Amino acid sequence: MARLYTASLEDIRAGKVTDVYFERALATLRAEGVDKHVVAEITSSSLPEDYAWGLVVGLEEVVAALEGLPVDVDGLPEGSAFYPGEPVLRIAGQYGDFGVMETAVLGLLCQTSGVATKAARCKLAAAGRTVVSFGARRIHPAVAPTVERAAYVGGCDGVAVVRSAELLGLEPTGTMPHALMLVLGDLKSALLAFDRAMPDRVPRVALVDTFQDEKFAAVEAAEVLGEKLSAVRLDTPGNRRGNFAKLIEEVRWELDLRGHEQVSIFVSGGLDEHAIPELNPLCNGYGVGTAISHAPVINFALDLVEVEGRPRTKRGKKSGTKEVIQCSACGERRLVPRAEAYGACPCGGQWEPLLRPVLRRGELVEPLPGPQAMREYALAQVEQATKRAEANECE
Ligand SMILES: [Zn+2]
Repeated sequence: MARLYTASLEDIRAGKVTDVYFERALATLRAEGVDKHVVAEITSSSLPEDYAWGLVVGLEEVVAALEGLPVDVDGLPEGSAFYPGEPVLRIAGQYGDFGVMETAVLGLLCQTSGVATKAARCKLAAAGRTVVSFGARRIHPAVAPTVERAAYVGGCDGVAVVRSAELLGLEPTGTMPHALMLVLGDLKSALLAFDRAMPDRVPRVALVDTFQDEKFAAVEAAEVLGEKLSAVRLDTPGNRRGNFAKLIEEVRWELDLRGHEQVSIFVSGGLDEHAIPELNPLCNGYGVGTAISHAPVINFALDLVEVEGRPRTKRGKKSGTKEVIQCSACGERRLVPRAEAYGACPCGGQWEPLLRPVLRRGELVEPLPGPQAMREYALAQVEQATKRAEANECE
């Protein structure tokens, strides 16, 4: 019988989604009668492309995987900005109790942090305009909700997939597919039918690239739906684009000339943070697909940094348990050996440790925030990270 080749939470918690060498290491240690208390840190030594910062997402799913194991977990809150070399998560416990979880824990963080970071970059590029996650069709459906959650926490205003939205407590966001026009035969019939069938809360967004030139279709949509038309969407195929910005400019011109200034322009198809800025003067929102759902992963690695209370790690890494501290007054940030207290910043402000207790002996220390709160936090983190990057450039 046909089936999906996916692992369940039960498989993950049972340590089955593990590279076999961890199982073999564990079997070897058991045979030797050795188990030691270790501290493991998860860090990324570099970031994809030219990223100055990343956003870490996936902590809630790491908790789902590790909850109940006799380990202590500390981490940056979900949606936090981080920099290369900074630990985003720390796990302390007997190696035998969590060593086999390394593959799964990294897998839960690397992909979703990459997605959240790319979503944040697109949202930033859109300079306040709407960005919606449209990329579920490019990834396995079993992981679409977690990828769209990361896109949302990273800064997307909405997600297109019904199940993703349900899990996030949102209304799914979408317009109309080309199929509706193709099945009903023309734009006017499709718009009138859509308008009759849809409840009022669904915005009337006309897809205007199916049969004819976008500017004529946009004018037709505005004439057919009048005040009810909230936006037109251009998903113009690549082989018809030519100068896409010019095409959008024409659509705006023709709509405005006929008094349809209230009609927004929404664009989708092959967009990323590099394509968006040029379109900003003309567009009100973007649907971003592959660039977000298939974003470069963050190459987090898990390293043991302490064994039986003593600093010990592999070459190329800093040993000892570390902390990321940030000044509450000036925002200065440092990587330092973990300590009881960190004293004052040269500016007079207090250093605050950024990794927070998440699990103690497998028990959740405090309830995790919901996705809306995480997104607000992430947006503020991105603003801070952008200011920090600008300040660094000025130096
Ligand atoms: Zn300071």
